[in-house]
Amino acid sequence: MLDRLAIAAALREIGALLRLHGDNRFKARAYERAGAALEALRADAVLDDPVRLQQLPGVGAATARVIADLHTEGSPPLLDRLRGQFPKGVLQLQQVPHLTLRRMRALQDALGIASVDELEAACRNGDVRSVGGFGPALTAKILAGIEAWRRRGNDLLLLHADREADALLGFARAIAGVHTAVVTGAVRRRVELVDGLDVAVAAADVDAAVDACTRHPAAVAVVDRTTGGCALRLANGTLVRVHVDEPARFGALLVRTTGTDAHVAELERLAARARVELDDAGADEATVYARLGLPFVAPELREGVGELAAARAGRLPELLTAADLRGFVHCHTVWSDGRHTIEEMARAADAWGLEYLTITDHSTSAHYANGLDADRLREQWGEIARVQPLVRVRLLRGSEVDILADGALDFGDAILAQLDVVVASVHNRHRLDRAAATRRIVRALRHPLFKIWGHPLGRYVGSRPPIDVDFDEVLDAAVGARVAFEVNGDPHRLDLEPALQRAARARGIPFVVSTDAHSVAQLANLHYGVDMARRGWLTKADVLNTLPADRFAAAVRPSPA
Ligand SMILES: [Zn+2]
Ligand SMILES: [Zn+2]
Repeated sequence: MLDRLAIAAALREIGALLRLHGDNRFKARAYERAGAALEALRADAVLDDPVRLQQLPGVGAATARVIADLHTEGSPPLLDRLRGQFPKGVLQLQQVPHLTLRRMRALQDALGIASVDELEAACRNGDVRSVGGFGPALTAKILAGIEAWRRRGNDLLLLHADREADALLGFARAIAGVHTAVVTGAVRRRVELVDGLDVAVAAADVDAAVDACTRHPAAVAVVDRTTGGCALRLANGTLVRVHVDEPARFGALLVRTTGTDAHVAELERLAARARVELDDAGADEATVYARLGLPFVAPELREGVGELAAARAGRLPELLTAADLRGFVHCHTVWSDGRHTIEEMARAADAWGLEYLTITDHSTSAHYANGLDADRLREQWGEIARVQPLVRVRLLRGSEVDILADGALDFGDAILAQLDVVVASVHNRHRLDRAAATRRIVRALRHPLFKIWGHPLGRYVGSRPPIDVDFDEVLDAAVGARVAFEVNGDPHRLDLEPALQRAARARGIPFVVSTDAHSVAQLANLHYGVDMARRGWLTKADVLNTLPADRFAAAVRPSPA
């Protein structure tokens, strides 16, 4: 008999294994949500009540059966079957780049490798060479990948932090005597890569609430325990810091735990000058800032990079919100490497209630992504014309055109000029030296047709550094060129990064906030794009896809009308 927390762990494993299948992402997410829902329950009673069970988020008839199996038998056939389909240790090993499932299987069959430690040892002592395909080049790549994985340690992408935070909040809110629990710290500032999760809890009995938090079922260690909080290490490696205070002081608690040290230190100075005790300054954040003579400062701004000076001077930007956006700018379909058809993407955009959707599949050079040549691109225009009358959203025909190594674009001007919008991106040769990379980008930006510079510096958060360019020179070229910079909302990219957005904004360069969606579900990347734009101090006026469809189309038309 498993209890709800053990069942939750099994559901999460099912979700993770389904996710590996790739074509089961919705189901995977449902199992993960069901796991989180069970973690947020106060008691096991619901496990014996099929009706109530199916009222939990993520739990349908099939999941309810799996839960019942787990509850009574301890191990459902589905989990056994899934485990049987993957090599042992797959959930850890999959974090190593270049290690495909096929390779994991070969390693397991030949050497019994089922963990990263074993893999590293076999790479170092040369054992892997007995396995087909593992030459010196691949072995070196895998060792470098393991090193990067260890360096990254338990850092979390914001996307993963958000998922874990949901479950954690459910747990904290279920504790008796807790008034409220919210995410704070770097995740609340929407930092792209975080070293753990911070949760702020309001409870009348602070001590009792901290105690209850230390008993989190997934905690393998209590790293720290103070009067007002604790730090826990979860089984999956995530560090969780819990901060607890009484409801009357909750505003100050949030202010203290959200901002960077630099932000909070400056607030302390202002508080001392105003003879205000920061910790007693208010039950909500707006009151705390007001006691210090300041307007509310959005969490995404609290980095200690001049936001309080701007606040004092009444010059805080009025940040972009998701509601300001009127169109999707950059998306892929089955015509290149997307998972859904133009019609499916268009209907999904309709459901979002946005006004326009720009279809930007890859160009010819992007072989790996099934890029379109000019003939297939023209053929796609026919399909866009067929779908248009079926949907409300206005479809714009575009392309994500490769920026070639010399800075030329992958389609000739005659083709580009017939498009409604051109996204120009780098997809290969990320490691040119600084001079060559700068030349490449400057030439692309100066191309005479209007373009959007897609995921500008090509980074992957935590795993691939940005292209090395002289960014001042790039900005000089962009000023006066016919270009907008993209804020890419793919949670693995989040590119252009916020500090550079601020630099570009200061030079008056326009932006778009995009999803780079390769599926209907990824249209939700929009929210991550907005988060990053807010970290970059962008306002509605800075972002072209806040414009209505006609004005947007006019603003980004490759050749002036
Ligand atoms: Zn791209
Ligand atoms: Zn793309």
